[in-house]
Amino acid sequence: MRVLFASSEIYPFAKTGGLADVSYSLPKALSEIGVSVKTVMPLYGCVDTEKFGIRSTGRKVRVSLSAGDFEFEVYHLSDGVEHYFLKNFLFGREYLYGTPEGDYPDNDVRFGAFCHAVVKLIEDGFFRGEIVHVNDWQTSLIPVLIKRKGLRIRTLQTIHNLAYQGVFPKETVERLNLGWELFNMEALEFWGKVNFLKGGIVFSDAVSTVSPTYAREITTPEFGFGLDGVLRKYSYKLFGILNGIDYDVWNPETDRYIYINYTESSIGNKEENKRYFVKETGLREGDWPLFVFIGRLAKQKGIDLFMEKLNEIRELPANFAILGTGDSYYNEFFNSIKGKYENIFVEVAFDEPLSRKMYASADFLLMPSLYEPCGLNQMIAMRYGTLVVARKTGGLADTVRDISEPGGYGFLFEEFNSDEFLSSVKRAVEFYRSNRERLLRLKQFVMGIDFSWNSSALKYFRLYENLIEGRIR
Ligand code: ADP
Repeated sequence: MRVLFASSEIYPFAKTGGLADVSYSLPKALSEIGVSVKTVMPLYGCVDTEKFGIRSTGRKVRVSLSAGDFEFEVYHLSDGVEHYFLKNFLFGREYLYGTPEGDYPDNDVRFGAFCHAVVKLIEDGFFRGEIVHVNDWQTSLIPVLIKRKGLRIRTLQTIHNLAYQGVFPKETVERLNLGWELFNMEALEFWGKVNFLKGGIVFSDAVSTVSPTYAREITTPEFGFGLDGVLRKYSYKLFGILNGIDYDVWNPETDRYIYINYTESSIGNKEENKRYFVKETGLREGDWPLFVFIGRLAKQKGIDLFMEKLNEIRELPANFAILGTGDSYYNEFFNSIKGKYENIFVEVAFDEPLSRKMYASADFLLMPSLYEPCGLNQMIAMRYGTLVVARKTGGLADTVRDISEPGGYGFLFEEFNSDEFLSSVKRAVEFYRSNRERLLRLKQFVMGIDFSWNSSALKYFRLYENLIEGRIR
């Protein structure tokens, strides 16, 4: 089976979030079970081609659109998976999608031209295979173009976050030579504009999202971001497959960035990590539980609940460490409280080494998300023996079980409000103070839960098989 996996970000070449992690580890897991996978992404200016050894293949592909003529040069790197990169000046900028002030205004042309180039390479026989797997809106026009051109290749659209749909003015139809016949409610049109992701949903042979709970949630108005009706219409081809994490990338036994490596049987070393971390960051020394938050500073991540309860959190017998960057409103708030409270450490940055120290040092990870398609942080945290305090939504509901239930190992709250959030934090603090033995056993237990790609890669494999055999209709 041959699969072309198209994504706008792939770790470690370029990453802004979980999509990059998945786009690295799923192709790798698929190739380990015998699937021949090629990935394709834009070659951004920020990708360090020297460091990774990414080289030109000499192959060029040209797309002529009303927006302009764009020639892409195909670059390549093999690391077990064959990675392809398409180079054009459109992507020669510092950021992937836009500056902190806002998205680039020509993202329709940037990613539209990229999709055209990928489809051209398929037509030309450069990419051969049975399946094209696209991810989020940036690559959603690929299935649209494949269907329109009548190419005999099956397509899967994965939704990693429905909030981002790639919505552009209707002139985009013209600019990208999409054809006005596609500009209607049954296709690309969305409230008078063009919606890339809607195109992917309508024209793909199957649609998947990254957890079973989120697959159900997005068919409701509350989580559907205006596309719930479309998703209900196509629910016969909608699937939820939980993401995994890469067990080689995330491993406390071998992680080079943490203070002291550990395994389930040397869990005592996790405490040592906390001691070093607390010293390094200037948090209160002593026997306090350490709560960490790692993630984009965005409304989705529920960070407002933390901000609302700041006064109470300052008084808790616990330490907190926040690592994140995102919307300027949140960046400013967290910069303004930096160094102000003795039990709250703040770093407004994207810092992977620091995130690893935090996963290793923490007793609890905070994830009070408003919604969460899958979430990787909670799985990484558990792999590092850190218990999770989270809102029961999306992938969090599929990976964390509340301690009050039989076999439970986390702290969940249901309603999205700061009182519920604070009381689950307090439950965790209380648990730390009164159940030290059980806490240690639970830390070992969560380290042993299988969040690897093993079972999920098989589920994708079966879905590809069903697509090839025409069983989804
Ligand atoms: P998202 O919605 O941002 O994709 P996920 O939970 O799916 O959230 O994935 C987040 C990934 O990004 C994890 O690997 C997490 O460790 C990483 N991450 C997020 N914010 C930061 C940060 N400020 N510094 C380092 N890593 C981060």
